[in-house]
Amino acid sequence: SNKSVLGPLVGAVDQGTSSTRFLVFSSKTAELLSHHQVEIKQEFPREGWVEQDPKEILHSVYECIEKTCEKLGQLNIDISNIKAIGVSNQRETTVVWDKLTGEPLYNAVVWLDLRTQSTVESLGKRIPRSNNFVKSKTGLPLSTYFSAVKLRWLLDNVRKVRKAVEEKRALFGTIDSWLIWSLTGGVNGGVHNTDVTNASRTMLFNIHSLEWDKQLCEFFGIPMEILPNVRSSSEIYGLMKAGALEGVPISGCLGDQSAALVGQMCFQNGQAKNTYGTGCFLLCNTGRTCVFSDHGLLTTVAYKLGRDKPVYYALEGSVAIAGAVIRWLRDNLGIIKTSEEIEKLAKEVGTSYGCYFVPAFSGLYAPYWEPSARGIICGLTQFTNKCHIAFAALEAVCFQTREILDAMNRDCGIPLSHLQVDGGMTSNKILMQLQADILYIPVESEIRYSTWKKAVMKSMGWVTTQSPESGDPSIFCSVSLGFFIVSSMVMLIGARYISGIP
Ligand code: ADP
Repeated sequence: SNKSVLGPLVGAVDQGTSSTRFLVFSSKTAELLSHHQVEIKQEFPREGWVEQDPKEILHSVYECIEKTCEKLGQLNIDISNIKAIGVSNQRETTVVWDKLTGEPLYNAVVWLDLRTQSTVESLGKRIPRSNNFVKSKTGLPLSTYFSAVKLRWLLDNVRKVRKAVEEKRALFGTIDSWLIWSLTGGVNGGVHNTDVTNASRTMLFNIHSLEWDKQLCEFFGIPMEILPNVRSSSEIYGLMKAGALEGVPISGCLGDQSAALVGQMCFQNGQAKNTYGTGCFLLCNTGRTCVFSDHGLLTTVAYKLGRDKPVYYALEGSVAIAGAVIRWLRDNLGIIKTSEEIEKLAKEVGTSYGCYFVPAFSGLYAPYWEPSARGIICGLTQFTNKCHIAFAALEAVCFQTREILDAMNRDCGIPLSHLQVDGGMTSNKILMQLQADILYIPVESEIRYSTWKKAVMKSMGWVTTQSPESGDPSIFCSVSLGFFIVSSMVMLIGARYISGIP
């Protein structure tokens, strides 16, 4: 009976750098019905290296799906009403696996990883200054951040990867590809796909023609046969082959920052959002034109919501370390036990007392693109204590956002009048107020849904609920429209942080 009230249900896999979540929504009310979340391990085997276990990531997805379905059962909600699943994922993180055994050939090399610094330096020397074809084709500066150089490193340094490529057993993918291949059957017929948003972060993808670029693949020495097929962000890729949701179509895929842009309904030229997760990512929709930055921002694919739908682009300011600095204070310094405690420490002093924290753990991304930068804490006196350092860490996140917002305003011409925010850190009220004070514009967040907001918003609008037989992408529009309306109401009841300075 609840079927008619809730309508078809939609599931969203949200695979982030810090954790994996699965969430189930009603397509009629956009209500979050149930969810489950699991934290993901990060390994730091050497200075500057960041890895994750692709099998652990996959298992965390299955675990979140199973647990969420159990919870739905307890609520008397029939899981057969789940008609579609979307995947949103941490971008750039690189996996190579064996298509015959289904085994990863190395750990996932995480986007934050710096091991490719020398690879980047030597490749950089081969790009003519007068014709930076990497930037003009991909919208990206040559950096350790993107997948192509990580894949180059794996081919150069991991014998198992090289051998599998030679023997035509290797498949490359970002996390979306690894998950969708595995969830749709893996060695038993898994589909090897990615979507345009994830592809645009590999540095092998031509963002104008929306195809893998032969010249770039030659430049990076990447064999094209290991690359996934590139699809739109909203179409049926395949069906779940195992678990509680076997047979349900996977029909949406967006890199996490694109998903947040869509979830925040930034569909108009000039609309922007900032997401505070492990890193910080400010994306501004530039419509159907590719805008190139003169101030250190990236040009990236925002979304393409259907096979026959147009592609939209965004300017992006990427900050490598935001929430990660809080995790570092927890795991490396031990001055807090949970991320939430940072707020209490910062509140105790309400000032950094002249202490500054530059968390350049992975070099500096936008607008500097300086891989050799490293973190510092300065301005220390006898008086400084852990509360000041906690406060300085929060300020650092805000100052970094200020820098990318300034760059964005210069590139776009019209300054942003307010900042829409989401992500795990936005539940921190001190951080949000500091951000408003430092930007001098209102910061709008949704705190009632704080933890789940990003994924709530993400899952809205881009998951098609079309049945595999109907194959009609137009259904997507009407279903998604309902989501947008509800999510805009959610935005209106959200709290506002207005700069204290008149
Ligand atoms: P991701 O999508 O990158 O996995 P999330 O959006 O889930 O990240 O946010 C998790 C990050 O936010 C973690 O790095 C964590 O340290 C940080 N975080 C979570 N809660 C708080 C808080 N109350 N104050 C500051 N940082 C927080």
